[in-house]
Amino acid sequence: AGSGLVYKRLLLKLSGEALMGKGEFGIDMSVAERLSREIAEAIGAGAEIAVVVGGGNIFRGLAGAAKGMERATADYMGMLATVMNALALQNALENSNVPARVLSAIPMPTVCESYVRPKALHHMKAGRVVIFAAGTGNPFFTTDTAATLRAIEMDCQAVAKATQVDGVYDSDPRKNAGAKRFDKLDYSEVLARDLKVMDGAAIALARDNGLPVIVFSIEEPGNLLKVLRGAGRATVIA
Ligand code: UDP
Repeated sequence: AGSGLVYKRLLLKLSGEALMGKGEFGIDMSVAERLSREIAEAIGAGAEIAVVVGGGNIFRGLAGAAKGMERATADYMGMLATVMNALALQNALENSNVPARVLSAIPMPTVCESYVRPKALHHMKAGRVVIFAAGTGNPFFTTDTAATLRAIEMDCQAVAKATQVDGVYDSDPRKNAGAKRFDKLDYSEVLARDLKVMDGAAIALARDNGLPVIVFSIEEPGNLLKVLRGAGRATVIA
């Protein structure tokens, strides 16, 4: 197993919005199931996949703060939103016959397991998809930083951020027809040009630990497996 894979162990970052589909809010289970089939295909090819899910389809700390909430409190609400998404994704994965476990950075033992690094590694070795919920467990961070952190902790060969576009552009390709797309980027270039890939903390953490960041489209069926084989359309930041 694992033959032909450039990345055997990958951390997949799914934004909350990826679970929303064409809706404006919340979770579209048909989308969660489509994403699960992509993950199932990758597992079937011998890959080990861990997932960090965002919460932006339900609640974002900054949005709460803009309405007058204390930022830290709003961030805890955002982290709780990611737990809901994680449970939905676990359900969808199990429906695709992929064993999956949710591990939360904020302990809530009646809902899911708590994040303990050796436990997460054990699940991965046993062929289960580990879904990391509640981000880093700290306010003022993002799930992109959580994804980078967990990727390093889990010894993943890369962190792959699933988006709706096929890589990193110098401006939003959905708004600007002349936007330039990159096949490859340096961490320093992403930071210097303030390219909208991940927040600066996440990129700096990846850079300091030599973790490649792959940005790819999950809208195109089969692309996750192609990316694992080093053949998918994506931007690689290293
Ligand atoms: N969040 C946090 N600490 C973390 C990760 C997330 O406080 O380590 C909060 C933050 O308020 C954020 C929300 O959870 O807005 C949802 O996460 P994020 O915005 O990263 O989700 P995504 O944009 O990927 O859907």
